[in-house]
Amino acid sequence: MMDLLIQNGTVVDPSQQIQGVRDIGVNRGKIVGLFEPGMIPAASARERIDASGCLVTPGLIDLHVHVFEHRTPLGVHADLIGVAQGVTTVVDAGSTGSRDFPSFLTEVVQVNQTQVLLWINIASQGLCDGLSELADLSQLKPEETEELIGQYPLIRGIKARISSSVVKESGLKPLLIAKELARKVKLPLMVHIGNAPPPLGEILDLLDGGDVVTHAFHGKPGGIFDGNGELIPEANRALKRGVLFDVGHGSSSFSFRTMKRAKKLQIPPHTISTDLYRQNMDGPVVSLVTTMNKFLALGFSLEEVVKASTWMPAEVLGLADEIGTLKEQTIADLSILKMISHPTPLFDSENEELVGNPQLHALYTIKSGKVWKHDR
Ligand SMILES: [Zn+2]
Repeated sequence: MMDLLIQNGTVVDPSQQIQGVRDIGVNRGKIVGLFEPGMIPAASARERIDASGCLVTPGLIDLHVHVFEHRTPLGVHADLIGVAQGVTTVVDAGSTGSRDFPSFLTEVVQVNQTQVLLWINIASQGLCDGLSELADLSQLKPEETEELIGQYPLIRGIKARISSSVVKESGLKPLLIAKELARKVKLPLMVHIGNAPPPLGEILDLLDGGDVVTHAFHGKPGGIFDGNGELIPEANRALKRGVLFDVGHGSSSFSFRTMKRAKKLQIPPHTISTDLYRQNMDGPVVSLVTTMNKFLALGFSLEEVVKASTWMPAEVLGLADEIGTLKEQTIADLSILKMISHPTPLFDSENEELVGNPQLHALYTIKSGKVWKHDR
């Protein structure tokens, strides 16, 4: 007997290069395997989902969200943007630093059904005391941060927001401190970029392969393209070193124009993330699935879009053996999505419009074998 059999869905699992109709068995929170339809008798499962006409993907992973709901004005409830919307893992991007980590653990990680991981902010106060967290260098406590990283594997990397309103007069110093710690503990760094100073080129030159640039496709001046629309040499070098470009949509950090230009130069996003927070849930960001729909509307393939929201983020997190895949014996995190033909306007952070058609909608979320059904 197994706990759950998902029947007749079109499986899209870029980690195994599978796109085809399969049945999927789930038992004790793990994937039993993928099977040719009808191979496993229906009676051998306690629960069944008929996924005919639907897509079944590994559980979606959102690499950049803000879910410290009671301690930061931007925090949202993790399950609301997680298992309620097809997303099984969210990674909070620096809402907390070392100072408030114990509350983050008890008030967020332990009370949500969605898996919550963390990019710990290099500033000890995180985003709990306002949004200029790197202006005062005495707030950086790398030793305390290092100690927590050693104790809590849910900390998957370090966050440093390096834009003018965050660092003020500190310049590149906080980035150097964050980078030194990241190298020491062998974790990736996620760097938020925005308005200069510091100039983007100087930031990129400090990053290693495996580090993540979030808001990489923003539409503000001083981004990855210069005034003539050419990729800046530092961005080219960073990509060659294996630095990863993440979307981190947010209220002001994703531009269709920038993304189209990058696509033309064959620079896709490595990871598609939302930067969801309280102020952008009603638009323009809405959800990870909506953000994925924007990439479908931009002409990226379903395979590319699913890969950038499952397997790639799992790789970034160093968890590709557990999540972001439907391989046997991995955690039974799955999303069942339906592609619906209905023209819908979609907006970037610059209020530019694209029409999405067809569009993905989340029908079910399955986290560690537990099923959520969404009303449509
Ligand atoms: Zn953010």
